[in-house]
Amino acid sequence: MEQTLELYIINASYLLAAILFILGLKGLSHPRKAVRGNMLGAIAILIAIVATLVDHNVILKDTWEILLVGFAVGGLIGVILAIKVEMTSMPELVALFNGFGGLASVLVAGGALLKAVGDGQGGDLQITISTTASGLIGAITLLGSLMAFGKLYGFKFIPDKAVRYPGEQIVKLLLLIGSIVLGVLIVQHPENMTYYWMLVGAGSLLGILLVIAIGGADMPVVITLLNSYSGIAAAATGFVLSNNVLIVAGSLVGASGIILTKLMCVAMNRSLSNVLFGGFGAVADTSSADEVYGDKIKPVTADDVAIFLDTAQKVVIVPGYGMAVGQAQHAVKDLTHLLEENNIEVNFAIHPVAGRMPGHMNVLLAEVDIPYEQLLEMDDVNATLAQVDVAIVLGANDVVNPDARREDSAIAGMPIIDVDKANTVIVIKRSLSPGFAGIPNPLFAMDNAYMFFSDGKKAILAIVAAIKELG
Ligand code: NDP
Repeated sequence: MEQTLELYIINASYLLAAILFILGLKGLSHPRKAVRGNMLGAIAILIAIVATLVDHNVILKDTWEILLVGFAVGGLIGVILAIKVEMTSMPELVALFNGFGGLASVLVAGGALLKAVGDGQGGDLQITISTTASGLIGAITLLGSLMAFGKLYGFKFIPDKAVRYPGEQIVKLLLLIGSIVLGVLIVQHPENMTYYWMLVGAGSLLGILLVIAIGGADMPVVITLLNSYSGIAAAATGFVLSNNVLIVAGSLVGASGIILTKLMCVAMNRSLSNVLFGGFGAVADTSSADEVYGDKIKPVTADDVAIFLDTAQKVVIVPGYGMAVGQAQHAVKDLTHLLEENNIEVNFAIHPVAGRMPGHMNVLLAEVDIPYEQLLEMDDVNATLAQVDVAIVLGANDVVNPDARREDSAIAGMPIIDVDKANTVIVIKRSLSPGFAGIPNPLFAMDNAYMFFSDGKKAILAIVAAIKELG
């Protein structure tokens, strides 16, 4: 009776943890509720850990001191990393976290297989099949994530560009087939751990090959995908251990990672296979920069921009990767305040893939306390751009390229911010060089567009000074 009650409490705790995970994920979908969402997720993990420890009577066993040490060391490292990491290094940290998730799945599944064989349960198909899945996907995630981390961190020995070679896809296919064969061998001979470690080796190699084939700029998509893999590996480990909360949590991570990957691909108008197996812009775009720009470029200075802004009532700022590179967000805040003091309405147009990671612009603008209400999503801002007096494009390029409306363009169909519809467009960047997609931008040559060639931060500071001088 007492045991049944204990089982009820444990299962109720797992259910509570699962509900908190879902609420936590829901919270993460909006910046304002994200911190609370994160907190709910952390509480859910704590509940799940405590329930599992009680479930397996770990507290009563003599190994609990080791667990405590692991808990303290891991927790301390987590706290230090969370405090010290720069916002711009977030993708690297997430890559490492995914990798650790993969490593945990590899080790736990291997350990569970050893134990199952020792307990005479080696013939249990649920254990052997899920161990194979956990080991393989965990190993792909671990090495894939370490390679992604290395690329983002800028290790010299890991090439930033996509590494391509003849027969590339065949090599990967053979590795996958080899892994499946090893999986069958594990099911048939679970007592032979060599097969398991060979599977982990094959998965590790596959992880490396999958990630080195992808260019540095596509890494954010890869990271969300690896995040999803780490969830699937954890769910497989849940089946190995027959642990419901791990199955639920792993599935949630797996599914949300895939959804985010899909959203990013849609926002770039690229398929996942194009990111994984092909370069940017499979459709040839023949127009050269000279043809597009000719003698139509109109350079302006900070004083000219101040005069445009002097008569404006509505201004929209479109930030892009260049704002992140130039760390111009603090200067942008100063400009926003100054314009608002002059009774000018200022909003920000946020493209979903502006920058190099999901939410890149939101993070930078939140860092300088720009209110969320001023950050307008693409569809909302596009509906208003025809009434905007001045649109300031700050270090953005592809996300405002009207060529996306042309069918034969390399970025055909990519949703863009329609800045060309604004009365006047000021583009701040250092040169006419292209953005991530590597194609010219006809916006720069349009009648209503003016180029302010400068570093983003210097340009905004100069505009602030010019407005103040104008009085
Ligand atoms: P782009 O890469 O199109 O353009 C950025 C521009 O910033 C460049 O043209 C560059 O021009 C300018 N720039 C660089 N440094 C500075 C500086 N210090 N001051 C001022 N300007 C600067 O960026 P967007 O944000 O417009 O577009 C993002 C691109 O990245 C899209 O193609 C998207 O698909 C892709 N991408 C985004 C991901 C995401 O998660 N957000 C993931 C993967 C890819 P110049 O050198 O002349 O200054």
